[in-house]
Amino acid sequence: MLNLVLFGPPGAGKGTQSEKLISKYQLVHISTGDLFRAHIKNQTPLGLRVSQLIAEGELVPDQITIDMLEEEIDRNPGAKGFVFDGFPRTIPQAIELDKFLEGKGSKVDGVIALDVEKEELVKRVALRQLETGRVDDQADKLQKRIDEYFNKIILVLPYYEEQKKLTKINGIGEIDEIFGKLCEVIDQY
Ligand code: AMP
Repeated sequence: MLNLVLFGPPGAGKGTQSEKLISKYQLVHISTGDLFRAHIKNQTPLGLRVSQLIAEGELVPDQITIDMLEEEIDRNPGAKGFVFDGFPRTIPQAIELDKFLEGKGSKVDGVIALDVEKEELVKRVALRQLETGRVDDQADKLQKRIDEYFNKIILVLPYYEEQKKLTKINGIGEIDEIFGKLCEVIDQY
């Protein structure tokens, strides 16, 4: 199996690069943000539970997120591997992911963090907001999510750095050029 964690702030290009990665390496894309949005759209009990938090740009509690993620992994028993996009965002989530994969005789092979500065993120997400209408992409909520990333979520990185699994890649440039850099890293796992 090949399991990758794609890490980065909102607007870093995780979704775009994930799509290219799953096609090249035949992996399954698990974006916890996309899964939550699907639950909200379908008005499932989970969706109703988390919609307010997400609209406000707050993190969903760990256990809810972990349960949803593990369920999604289990829904893909034949997968050659996964691209985790937007997960883990906390140390307990990272620890749980390791335990869960270990229980399946697997592991996180590598973590790639896309580096993009705040000004560029604001520009990119403003465009995305026009296209998708995502409420949590509106300027005030976006600012909160960016702050959350640089103040808290980024604290997950040392966990992977200690395991020598982390690579940082400049996320500014042409999509294909960045994709090429990701592939170079992945091909060495
Ligand atoms: P994203 O599409 O990855 O930006 O996620 C959208 C929103 O979903 C986030 O702002 C959080 O409210 C929630 N969310 C997604 N992934 C997680 C996670 N791993 N832990 C907690 N909340 C999450």
